[in-house]
Amino acid sequence: MKFEVSPRQALALFIALLLVAPMVLPAFYVTLLNYIGLYAMVAIGLVLLTGVGGLTSFGQAAFVGLGAYTTGVLTTATDLPGWLAWLSYSPWLTLIAGLLLTAALAYLIGLLTLRLSGHYLPLGTIAWGISLYYLFGNLEFLQGHTGFGGVPGVTVFGHELRKGEQVYYLIWLFVLLAVFTTTNLLDSREGRAIRALKGGMVMAEAMGVNTARARMVIFIIAALLACASGWLYAHLQRFVNPTPFGLNVGIEYLFMAVVGGAGHVWGAIVGAGLITVLKQWLQDLLPRVFGQSGNFEIIFFGVLMVIILHKARAGMWPILVSLFGRVVPLASVRRTIDPNAPALARRAQPRAGELLLAGKAVTRKFGGLVACNGMSLEVRAGEILALIGPNGAGKSTMFNQLSGVDTPTSGEVLFRGKSVAGRGSRAISAMGLSRTFQHVKILPTMSVLENVAIGAHARGSKGVLAAAWRLDRAEEARLLAEAARQIERVGLAEHMHDEAGALALGQQRILEIARALTSDPCLLLLDEPAAGLRYKEKVALGELLRKLRGEGMGILLVEHDMDFVMGLVDRIVVMEFGEKIAEGLPEEVQNDPAVLEAYLGGVE
Ligand code: ADP
Ligand code: MG
Repeated sequence: MKFEVSPRQALALFIALLLVAPMVLPAFYVTLLNYIGLYAMVAIGLVLLTGVGGLTSFGQAAFVGLGAYTTGVLTTATDLPGWLAWLSYSPWLTLIAGLLLTAALAYLIGLLTLRLSGHYLPLGTIAWGISLYYLFGNLEFLQGHTGFGGVPGVTVFGHELRKGEQVYYLIWLFVLLAVFTTTNLLDSREGRAIRALKGGMVMAEAMGVNTARARMVIFIIAALLACASGWLYAHLQRFVNPTPFGLNVGIEYLFMAVVGGAGHVWGAIVGAGLITVLKQWLQDLLPRVFGQSGNFEIIFFGVLMVIILHKARAGMWPILVSLFGRVVPLASVRRTIDPNAPALARRAQPRAGELLLAGKAVTRKFGGLVACNGMSLEVRAGEILALIGPNGAGKSTMFNQLSGVDTPTSGEVLFRGKSVAGRGSRAISAMGLSRTFQHVKILPTMSVLENVAIGAHARGSKGVLAAAWRLDRAEEARLLAEAARQIERVGLAEHMHDEAGALALGQQRILEIARALTSDPCLLLLDEPAAGLRYKEKVALGELLRKLRGEGMGILLVEHDMDFVMGLVDRIVVMEFGEKIAEGLPEEVQNDPAVLEAYLGGVE
């Protein structure tokens, strides 16, 4: 048998090393490990928030402070009002109080700042990061910048943890729990939604994901991890003052997450370790080099950050794994698909010939440009309608109006009899409309299976807590089995576990069809599905679409390949300069003088 190390064995080794470390290491290193653990907790939150979710926060140190101050104040106060007094009974109660307070505050701050886009969000985090820091320093009952001591140790099974090497085990237990829950979360229905936030928001919404909620979720989780770190910190130090919760520390946390590997949970521990040890070492070395004292290490970290961002975007973690893999062979892990998982419930199917989608006088203006002008079209269950027209005619814009990705300037869109214009793509997808994009919107580093499973988001219901503690596995098996079925159906089975970004462009389009089908739609909008496909693949796609039509699905497609369109579709709508210039059966449209003039004439 080949010798390989599985992730589980690597984890067991890591835990074993953690267990013996305080028994064999001098006290100084145990202290260092304590701090690495505390920082790692915050960095894990930042991996989730920034690395995975794409939301940069400079303000995490303020949440650490909130955790530390909450427990510090409540466990040392002698004159708490009656309704709060019971909290001072045990640090475990103040941990809960701190987490609740942090969740509430993070929710409020999130409401105010998470809607900011681009650079405004990081700037917003700097603003509240600084505000909280000054609040800690200026509130009289927090004893200003001097802070206060006398914080008791945490009591576990009647023993108060007084020494560093005792708190060590508590800290690393917290770190491991954070790793466990975060990794689980990322490997779930909610996790896929979170992983789609960076670069896939439009797609995710169109697949039924509430992206605003997903952003809030990771913001609160990151804040809670920071708060728990602050709680541990206060009971390790027995002393609380504002210095460790300022903006500069917030920046350091971000360094840790980025240097370690912004997209990898374990990278947070690597980053925390690396930065902490380097800082310790540089704080010794640099003042001697420069001949004066100062925080020179910050400059060094700045340079390090720039190098990492240039040379190793994904941080140290993937590099370490591949170096390790060269010495010790690592077993590859692959998602298992349970073919016997019970099928997901399906929506009530429309009657044959039912009017599914009606666009009525849809107009969309971009400034002075009228991309769609009074466009009307109808799609019924069990028919394929093609929308054709020269480049720039407004076909994709029309798709966006119909699918809720965009809102028409005027006009109406009815889906299954209900007015949907302006209701957003998530609401419309929930009613049974699913789509693909002309410019494919896939998540290139996720597997084909995971990409397609995003389509099933709205067909599952297990939330963040269930995912974190692995209570979602039965539902997850059903979601993945459904995704796998649709992947097989469109003919991508051999690429099931490949990275989606590695597929040819034509195959990525087919992936999008599988993803759309996974949402159990009754109407499909396909924007140029055959572009980039080889002849055989086009034939297979045509067969698939015929089969879907036979099952009663309505299909609206934009396509340039006239051979593909003419033999396949039931009716055609022709657009030019944002307006409808013809509509009818393929043979009618083919011979329409206006169409020949505007479109086919130009091709022949
Ligand atoms: P088609 O899909 O038929 O090739 P599009 O719908 O992509 O055409 O584009 C129609 C016209 O609208 C083009 O002139 C395009 O430049 C313009 N357009 C599309 N989207 C936008 C936008 N978001 N902002 C400004 N102009 C746009
Ligand atoms: Mg287009």
